[in-house]
Amino acid sequence: MSHVVLKVKNNEIQKMRQYYQTNIIDKVPPGGIFTAKTNNCTITAYKSGKVLFQGAGSAQEAGIWGHSEAASKGSTNISKRVAVKKDAGKVDLPANIGNLSLVGSDEVGTGDYFGPITVVAAYVKKENIPLLKELGVKDSKNLNDEKIIEIAKQIKEIVPYSLLTLHNEKYNTLQKSGMTQGKMKALLHNKAIGNVLKKITPEKPEAILIDQFAKKDVYYGHLRGQREIQRENVYFSTKAESIHLAVAAASILARYAFVRHFETLSVKAGFTLPKGAGAGVDKAAARLIHEKGVGALPTFAKVHFANTQKALGIAAKIRD
Ligand code: MN
Repeated sequence: MSHVVLKVKNNEIQKMRQYYQTNIIDKVPPGGIFTAKTNNCTITAYKSGKVLFQGAGSAQEAGIWGHSEAASKGSTNISKRVAVKKDAGKVDLPANIGNLSLVGSDEVGTGDYFGPITVVAAYVKKENIPLLKELGVKDSKNLNDEKIIEIAKQIKEIVPYSLLTLHNEKYNTLQKSGMTQGKMKALLHNKAIGNVLKKITPEKPEAILIDQFAKKDVYYGHLRGQREIQRENVYFSTKAESIHLAVAAASILARYAFVRHFETLSVKAGFTLPKGAGAGVDKAAARLIHEKGVGALPTFAKVHFANTQKALGIAAKIRD
């Protein structure tokens, strides 16, 4: 199993404990301070100051803290590029990626029946990383909407970014024409990144990190034929919002935009629309169909989702 060991100061361990607080598990080995488990990495901090990262995501995860002196097995120098060999080539990120001046991009709304897709690319300079941490920028999945809005309003002023919103009508038109959601996302990410690069020019980021929704070759396959394709220093990783705060910031800004559009849609609907794509969504869609007619759906929803058929079934019963 791949692993990385970092030697860090005590205050850094406290920072890590805070950072991983939602991932901390009860089981701590002898001499350990805490153990945390993410999807693809187990992090154990020891009283000795050593922090062990184990699992497929170890290089990525250690990269967040990677400015520290490395002491891996065979004393791997993690200030050099770390490739995780066992992980089917998924990860090949600069080990210090968490500390670079970086453009990150992420999207929101792809799995929600109601509401648009929002994509944001954001540029975070390395000198702004401590400030963003201070403002509470972290993985948006661990933040509620209220907190997202609060943080977004603050970072909007600090971080150059590009927000693209794909409203439902357009989405449905593209989808009907045969475009996959994957391609839509690729086009949006590429465009948002290009916009940010223009915004910050002549400055250039040290790297670009896309929260991975498709493998690199699939992503670039989607972009074939586009006039401007961003390729230079572009990296892909899942869970990228925990690798660099630029992705976390992008994610927060995208969610902020999504939440605001969602509120507008709820006002239009006349009742609060639910997020996601579960049974509550079927019922809400049925109510929309009942009150506004099926023709209103494309304004509110991604109509090719299975929710539409279920909603039509429920709406038919309301009518009877
Ligand atoms: Mn994402």
